[in-house]
Amino acid sequence: MAELHELDLAEARDLLRRRVISSRELAEALLTEIERAAPLNAFLTLDRERTLAMADAADAALAGGEHGPMTGLPVAIKDVFCTEGVRTTAGSRILENFIPPYESTVTANLWRAGAVMLGKTNMDEFAMGSSNENSAFGPVRGPWRNGKGEDLVPGGSSGGSAAAVAARLAPGATATDTGGSIRQPASFTGTVGMKPTYGRCSRYGMIAFASSLDQAGPITRTVRDAAIMLGAMAGHDEKDSTVVDRPVPDYEAALERGVKGLKVGVPKEYHSAKTPKEIEDLWLEAIEWLKAAGAEVVDITLPHTEAALPTYYIVAPAEASSNLARYDGVRYGLRVMPDEKASLTEMYEATRGAGFGREVKRRIMIGTYVLSAGYYDAYYLKAQKVRALIARDFAEAFETVDLILTPTAPSAAFALGAKPDPIAMYYNDVFTVPSSLAGLPAISVPAGTDGQGLPLGLQLIGRAFDEETVFAGARVLEEAAGFSAAPEPWWKKGS
Ligand code: GLN
Repeated sequence: MAELHELDLAEARDLLRRRVISSRELAEALLTEIERAAPLNAFLTLDRERTLAMADAADAALAGGEHGPMTGLPVAIKDVFCTEGVRTTAGSRILENFIPPYESTVTANLWRAGAVMLGKTNMDEFAMGSSNENSAFGPVRGPWRNGKGEDLVPGGSSGGSAAAVAARLAPGATATDTGGSIRQPASFTGTVGMKPTYGRCSRYGMIAFASSLDQAGPITRTVRDAAIMLGAMAGHDEKDSTVVDRPVPDYEAALERGVKGLKVGVPKEYHSAKTPKEIEDLWLEAIEWLKAAGAEVVDITLPHTEAALPTYYIVAPAEASSNLARYDGVRYGLRVMPDEKASLTEMYEATRGAGFGREVKRRIMIGTYVLSAGYYDAYYLKAQKVRALIARDFAEAFETVDLILTPTAPSAAFALGAKPDPIAMYYNDVFTVPSSLAGLPAISVPAGTDGQGLPLGLQLIGRAFDEETVFAGARVLEEAAGFSAAPEPWWKKGS
């Protein structure tokens, strides 16, 4: 048997049900690994007692012959999901001491399925970023190292979740994706990241960034585990009017459907001279894998792809500027009074000035600008129209194809501090943002490594609410790629 902390969710589930291992042993082993991995800075909050109490409750249920889909399985939670009684910061100073009085629906669903909370993971502040360098609590160091032995980013904004799963500190973690924050860190860390259709998971209790784009999903080490976890996270919720009232299919049952007879599209606009050859080559190789598995692969066109990034960087900041207006020092979170006689406006300014980091301020300013009376039509309204065209491109493509295959990110993990220019950072999302704007399900599967041995992911995009076909295709890629590389645990040295 593998060491306890190395078990994936499906393996642990089997051993728990057969009562070969207990949830407590598993949780304790993982908590020890988490402690030893302090240099990664992947976790912001741990609550050992709560974790072990949840594990004991799961063991009692298993002893009584009862279990839910995830009973006893430990998972890490991105610190953007409100957890009742457990500090939730969204990676921001402004929420440094915020203890939510309520539970997000996604986490409540996980606990109802029997899962055990390991802790809350580090992230880019308010989920804005692609490297986890925007966290107010310090960057996450990615578990992988390049040939030069440099510290690399884990990707973002769900960098803590991705690093935890890749470093075997958690077999699965929740994440959120607004423009790529599940898929890009998954690609950088050699993990699987599934962003479901907009409306599949409830956003209730998920601290909002851009409400028309935000979706929850899992990061895991295998496609099967992503199916298990998404099944437990998803579902209708009266507290979020944008969640659909449709039954959650048995995603695991869809895994072995294969791709025989399916049509897979390869969008010509995703070829770019800027993409490293290794990524292009991997993409071409995957086309052969899918063909060998019985799929027909065809070239398609998504003509408005080029407009996706600029559109996203208007829509997302606009929504963020509105969502973040609530952090005003009045109701909850940080309050800074410059002096006793400060006016309300001075209090707002001091609070927001001290509480938000640079990237968040930049987005609030861009968002406020594009929504202002003089510029609304020129920017926000136009972006909304372009967004509709991007969605239409996909709708037309999906009249003929069942899945779309692309790279997940335009590079492998880069060194910490290597991209000080925000525009260069935004380019990370070039392949993930279009499907976010269209609200479609998309997965990143670890498919190979670059010349330095760093993981590279491939993305499959599916029709709205057809996560089953996405999982089936991902399983084929996973099997063909046979990705089994794991990072060298340098963070344990000296511990
Ligand atoms: N990197 C993108 C951004 O900074 C996406 C973030 C996300 O998906 N939450 O907005």
